[in-house]
Amino acid sequence: LRRKMIAGNWKMHKTVSEAVALAEDIVMETNGTLNEVVIFPPFTALETVADAIDGKHVGYGAQDLHWEDKGAFTGAVSGAMIADICAEYVLVGHSERRTIFGENEKIVASKIIAAYRNGLKPMLCVGENLAEREAGKTARKINMQLKSALRVISAEDAENLVVAYEPIWAIGSGKAATPEDALEVCTLIREKIGKIFTPDIARKVRILYGGSVNEKNAASFNLSGIDGVLVGGASLKADTFAAIVRSF
Ligand code: 13P
Repeated sequence: LRRKMIAGNWKMHKTVSEAVALAEDIVMETNGTLNEVVIFPPFTALETVADAIDGKHVGYGAQDLHWEDKGAFTGAVSGAMIADICAEYVLVGHSERRTIFGENEKIVASKIIAAYRNGLKPMLCVGENLAEREAGKTARKINMQLKSALRVISAEDAENLVVAYEPIWAIGSGKAATPEDALEVCTLIREKIGKIFTPDIARKVRILYGGSVNEKNAASFNLSGIDGVLVGGASLKADTFAAIVRSF
């Protein structure tokens, strides 16, 4: 019942012309897929990419947003601006935003509110670091992140939430989680959503795995409790990304 989603987070990669070329190649090479395909180009390329793939089956979103809609926030981009170019999704709480840019749970929650306020669907990223995993604190960390983020969401909006489980130790490391470990945490996430909202809502929310997903291991994450993948490095080339899309 949940459509599988394959998302590409391009992070700080691609000039405008490179981004348009990649987006067009992805459209071509994933033509006919039944899965939902979404790309997250950098801000400078987002509108040009949007124009290039307008009306095609590939959706797009922004990698971040500010919690206010406008104001004196040098360097920031608002949800209103992102919605203005008809983006559908926005990443919120990516571990790189949390660790490199110091975003705490309060900021993440404010950004979720800002996303919904502007009609954007947030893709909330959660995940534990290596020390937390080794100390057996994965469930505690995930529950804490979810509790803080989900309390600002209405039941009505919750159905449009996408959650990405991205263990920090798996991101960019070449060491993906095992499908068993990924499924275990994705299941925990769905249970928590079920408790905070209702089991019916939890059944509708897409929960993705992310962290060193590539064209070789992607199919192993095609399990009934994992609704797709959020891909970083392997989303920067159309052929590998398209192969991942075909794995689901
Ligand atoms: P990699 O696929 O490069 O490990 O990145 C994952 C990620 O952070 C996607 O948001």
